[in-house]
Amino acid sequence: MGYNVAIDGPAGAGKSTIAKRVAKEKGYIYVDTGAMYRGLAVHFMEKGIQPDNVAEIEQACEDADVTLGYEDGVQQIYLNGRNITSRLREEAVGNMASKSSGIPKVRATLMAKTKDVVMDGRDIGTVVLPHADVKVFLTASVSCRAKRRYSELQEKGVPCKLAEIEKEIEERDYRDIHRDTSPLVQAEDAV
Ligand code: C5P
Repeated sequence: MGYNVAIDGPAGAGKSTIAKRVAKEKGYIYVDTGAMYRGLAVHFMEKGIQPDNVAEIEQACEDADVTLGYEDGVQQIYLNGRNITSRLREEAVGNMASKSSGIPKVRATLMAKTKDVVMDGRDIGTVVLPHADVKVFLTASVSCRAKRRYSELQEKGVPCKLAEIEKEIEERDYRDIHRDTSPLVQAEDAV
């Protein structure tokens, strides 16, 4: 068992930005669990499954293999061996990930491997790495997080509206906090 760092928090708070920097500085592996849920979401979307169709989502988990790798030091996500990284930040993919990630079978499909890792997500400090050496809960106001996402998308030339992003972030916060399985909550021992 290596040294584990858990960073949890709501969408757009800056978890992956911080996690990547820590991983680089310490030479740890960065595991972006949100990207893995997004990878599975692409699989469901490619099959034309609606986010509320639990039975079809569960069935689709059977033939999904989401893996994480690096090319030139940049994280890549592969779905059944195909690199789908360019699709991950689409808002529709984020929304499908947010809706499908409450299903226990979806969570069981993405199991963590532990070495020296920095992992970020929603339930890392509470469920995935409850014995992490360092636990951080990173958050910010909805408007601040929406602005971060907005500038990220603008930089990539993706057309978007700030008000819509704010609304989506609020909806995702609500779903992440209120779901039964692995809800977003600050671990008691998280800073
Ligand atoms: O962090 P990111 O926005 O990429 O995550 C996409 C969605 O995946 C989140 O809205 C959340 O519902 C889900 N997720 C999760 N557990 C994690 C990481 C992400 O349920 N550990």
